[in-house]
Amino acid sequence: MESILVLTHADETGSALTRASLEAITCGKELATRLNAPLTIGIVAADPDPLAKGLPCTTLAVSGEAFAQPRYATDAAACEALCRASQPAIVLAPQSSRFARVMAGVAHRLGGVIDTHITALAAESGPNSIPASIDATRWFYRQRIEAVISRSSRPWFLLLDAGTHAPYESNAAAGQPEQIDRIAVTVELPPLRTTVTGIRAPKQDAQTIRPDAKLLFVAGAGWTKKQPDGQIHTEEAGQLILNFIRVSGASLGSSKSLVDQGGEAHSVLPFLTHMNQVGQTGATPRHAKGLSTCCHGEEPHVVGWRFIGERRAISLDPNCGWTRGKADVVYIADAFQVIAKLNELL
Ligand SMILES: Cc1cc2nc3c(=O)[nH]c(=O)nc-3n(C[C@H](O)[C@H](O)[C@H](O)COP(=O)(O)OP(=O)(O)OC[C@H]3O[C@@H](n4cnc5c(N)ncnc54)[C@H](O)[C@@H]3O)c2cc1C
Repeated sequence: MESILVLTHADETGSALTRASLEAITCGKELATRLNAPLTIGIVAADPDPLAKGLPCTTLAVSGEAFAQPRYATDAAACEALCRASQPAIVLAPQSSRFARVMAGVAHRLGGVIDTHITALAAESGPNSIPASIDATRWFYRQRIEAVISRSSRPWFLLLDAGTHAPYESNAAAGQPEQIDRIAVTVELPPLRTTVTGIRAPKQDAQTIRPDAKLLFVAGAGWTKKQPDGQIHTEEAGQLILNFIRVSGASLGSSKSLVDQGGEAHSVLPFLTHMNQVGQTGATPRHAKGLSTCCHGEEPHVVGWRFIGERRAISLDPNCGWTRGKADVVYIADAFQVIAKLNELL
């Protein structure tokens, strides 16, 4: 029978599991139900006890200051120890930067195999499927080719892309005693050469790419084009966009034309880089909603909206790509006016 281990880790505060870890638990629970297989959750954290509360199955945890910060040597040793203690056939883990960099090494130490960027799992167990048949889905070539992978090698490590499952929510009643085993796992740490002295990160409001935001706000090249008064208004455009991002908490995306302008000596918005670009040669982010502004909605751009739930656009052009069936709602309007009004209301 396949046994499943879900590896999780604490967030930066140390007081909760990351959202991606909770998503991996949902995925593990679903898989365990489908295969009728035992499920265990492994936790990497300085103080795992409060994090284990309300989890649906046996937990194995490493603890101690060494696991408060991401570091290859300690994280790899922790994940290896959790795997050796649980002896799973299938290991699920979030594709976080913390786990993505150690998990191939851990799989190698366990003599296992690994696949990354998994978005969905399908499984079937039956008398003739030993080991169970598990199909893992991932995308290749900028999300244009969807592949389904199955393997007979075990242990099989699968790193799950964030945003593909609902985060696990405990339904344990508060105050009720839990009947679930919590097992502490000791780790023999190798000599540590790396000392984590702190994290240097841009301020929250300077960080415009926010994968967890509900809304994707896309700026197109129209923001820097001549407007009906015959003038360009790049500075005003920049202020409107940044204000909107700040008050709405949206993630900022861009069309290729707009980010390319920097290299072509045109008037540019200095806070945009190619990291913001959405589309065929850019990113394919996952957000519940998307609002496109001053962007024509051409196919190489819109292909990056594959995982955006509800799409709206503001364009002056009633014949733009968005109006031709690519958006749910299109406002034929001046984005300068609409966003100024929206900012005022927000
Ligand atoms: C191989 C290849 C790969 C590509 N990959 C990508 C990619 O990854 N991502 C990407 O984005 N593009 C990509 N492109 C380019 C893509 O085809 C388009 O050229 C690009 O998306 C156009 O950007 P845009 O809509 O912002 O600019 P434009 O086409 O210039 O459109 C600007 C729009 O702004 C509107 N507008 C102007 N002022 C206002 C206003 N005040 N209010 C409202 N609307 C206004 C105009 O009506 C116009 O519709 C690729 C192209 C190729 C050939």
